[in-house]
Amino acid sequence: MTRLSPRHPRYGSLQTRALLAEAVRTGLAVPEGLIAHGRAEAFDYFLGERTIPSARRAERVAARWLAAAKLPVVSVNGNVAALAPHEVARLARALPRLKVEVNLFHRTEARVTRIARILRRAGVREVFGLRPTARIPALPSDRAKVDRRGIWRADVCLVPLEDGDRAGALRRMGKRVIAIDLNPFSRTSRSANLPIVDELRRALGHIADDLEAGSARGTPRRDRSFAAAGALEDARRAMGRRLGRAMVRRRRTRRSMRSSTPRARGIGRRNGRTR
Ligand code: ATP
Repeated sequence: MTRLSPRHPRYGSLQTRALLAEAVRTGLAVPEGLIAHGRAEAFDYFLGERTIPSARRAERVAARWLAAAKLPVVSVNGNVAALAPHEVARLARALPRLKVEVNLFHRTEARVTRIARILRRAGVREVFGLRPTARIPALPSDRAKVDRRGIWRADVCLVPLEDGDRAGALRRMGKRVIAIDLNPFSRTSRSANLPIVDELRRALGHIADDLEAGSARGTPRRDRSFAAAGALEDARRAMGRRLGRAMVRRRRTRRSMRSSTPRARGIGRRNGRTR
């Protein structure tokens, strides 16, 4: 991997990019995953690369839904395996009923095996989805392949970095879908029962914190109808506010630059006229 200086102001982001680029080289992730990551980075920039309060609230509710589920499942694709295998393993430790299932859009046996290996190395005891035994109805392509003991039977599905078709198909199967997606406009975010607009590792880490702290126990009934549209609206507003502030700052800077130019200060005027 490329050597990166920890003193670089964007060290964290560069490290993540290097990790994903390496994952593509080793066949864990696919080039399309890099594009998805780039889009997410842009949205994270707009959020200030931090968890906004409404996302943190959504993460708390997600922990309670998972803790209260009969059969909770987290779906893992190439980007998730490359970026957050330890966070996935931590979730599974905090909630031993949680099943970890591999699901890929660009599926090959080799990729599935690699992803399962990475997850096991990180501490996941059992990985589902290696030999799919069922199909999500009305969903073309390999994304439909699932495990009868996992996603097929799950009542609550945590789907980080999902695509809209699959999220919608899972909902039509009657599952409660928790999405992690930095894009509050995506079809996935809009079709999830509980959209979390936060970066993958931050979101998984927070959910694991709540599960480990035991704060996820309690009465999930009051959370059953999460205000998904409100949470998405809040994320869009947070992004809009930051953009708005940046535009005001830019306008001020331009104004002050203009007023400090020789012309504005009257330098170069002769006989009351500007040259
Ligand atoms: P949709 O079908 O939901 O409209 P899409 O087809 O654009 O969206 P993908 O291309 O599958 O979806 O991308 C997955 C989503 O995951 C993107 O919207 C992207 O913002 C998000 N994403 C990628 N990386 C991360 C990350 N590290 N943290 C959070 N979200 C991410």
